[in-house]
Amino acid sequence: MRLSRFFLPTLKETPAEAQIVSHRLMLRAGMIRQSSAGIYSWLPLGFRVLKKIEQIVREEQDRIGQEMLMPTIQPADLWRESGRYDAYGPEMLRITDRHERDMLYGPTNEEQITQIFRDSVRSYRDLPKMLYHIQWKFRDEVRPRFGVMRGREFLMKDAYSFDLDYNEARHSYNQQFIAYLRTFQRMALKAIPMQAESGPIGGDMSHEFVILAETGESEIGCHKDYLGMDWTAAGIDYASDLQPIIDGFTAKYAATDDKRDAKAEKALAKDLVTGRAIEVGHIFYFGKKYSKAMNAIVTGPDGNDVTVEMGSYGIGVSRLVGAVIEASHDDAGIIWPEPVAPFKVGIINLKPGDKACDKACEDTYDNLVQSGIEVLYDDREARAGAKFADMDLIGLPWQVVVGPRGIEKGLVEIKGRKSGERQEISILSAVNRLTS
Ligand code: ATP
Ligand code: MG
Repeated sequence: MRLSRFFLPTLKETPAEAQIVSHRLMLRAGMIRQSSAGIYSWLPLGFRVLKKIEQIVREEQDRIGQEMLMPTIQPADLWRESGRYDAYGPEMLRITDRHERDMLYGPTNEEQITQIFRDSVRSYRDLPKMLYHIQWKFRDEVRPRFGVMRGREFLMKDAYSFDLDYNEARHSYNQQFIAYLRTFQRMALKAIPMQAESGPIGGDMSHEFVILAETGESEIGCHKDYLGMDWTAAGIDYASDLQPIIDGFTAKYAATDDKRDAKAEKALAKDLVTGRAIEVGHIFYFGKKYSKAMNAIVTGPDGNDVTVEMGSYGIGVSRLVGAVIEASHDDAGIIWPEPVAPFKVGIINLKPGDKACDKACEDTYDNLVQSGIEVLYDDREARAGAKFADMDLIGLPWQVVVGPRGIEKGLVEIKGRKSGERQEISILSAVNRLTS
């Protein structure tokens, strides 16, 4: 992609309305623009990152479930069946259609998926089922703020499990637990699973996955060992008993908000870490809450009716874009981890119009693109300083700087955004380095 053609409205000034660094950087880097409170347009640069994150979430979910797509607008009657239409309160955006029918913009999809399931599944033989979608949600939050971190309209992955009994439901829950570790690990995030509020049914099957950050909205307490923990759960056989692995990851104290325990925290003494955190995902077992209210029943092996066991599993896809930036930036701008970067490489032409520079840039660009690398080529007529600043701001992992002095010697400069290290090497070596 040539930057002269790419829509990248970067800002030099820090927008006054943005209180946290990720929001500031997303506005400055031309990733998003606010439409109204908590509602954003995703501009091309931001959209590329959103898609990258969405795709990682999808790939890890596809190992254990099937993707589908449910609507954003739902009929109120569905929510009357579960009793949540009245219970949900003002966070739910309620709409009336031209026939005076009550509708709503879905804040979540338990009712919708339960209806689909109960209308189509009759036998225990069709269990278990793990279904998910990645869809926009609307919650009329009291205080939308921090950009995409607490939006009103936001993109969520929500998965739902249906099982015959508690043990199988636990297995589904454990599968999601591992899938979450893998998902966040792939985004270079240290997301720690913590005991979370489990609602009226109680039990230990509710975990929030959080990233420690000053700007987070949850208060957490955990054992310090979790900070340096290796979350690699690669090579997991999802069909095997996952409980020992989960037990290993949850052996020590880690809790958010309501689940925090003063006694346990006191006992940890110096090993205790407390602070604020960003919730990026939540997995939750709720048994028969919706299946009972909405009659999601199958015939069991003995011919008797069984009300199915359910769980739901959310990931804040759009929130993650902000969360990655909170975890990875410096004074100059964003530092994208490679797996979620909007482009892997940025080429800066310091002297557009200079034949040798133009040719070196074009050659490098063509070579990289042909190798399947995503490249943003800054071919604009602009000051070198402005180009450097923009490239650092948008945070691509690698920069190739092409100027007349280097080109005389056949050299370009390659810079790693994270390390800041620069090296003068030949075009060929640069291409080899970036494609290997
Ligand atoms: P929170 O406690 O932050 O309000 P929640 O517990 O209501 O979140 P869930 O219903 O568990 O959220 O939703 C699943 C995921 O969706 C959350 O873990 C979070 O990452 C994301 N999410 C929830 N609300 C928002 C929001 N207003 N803006 C962006 N992402 C959100
Ligand atoms: Mg939650």
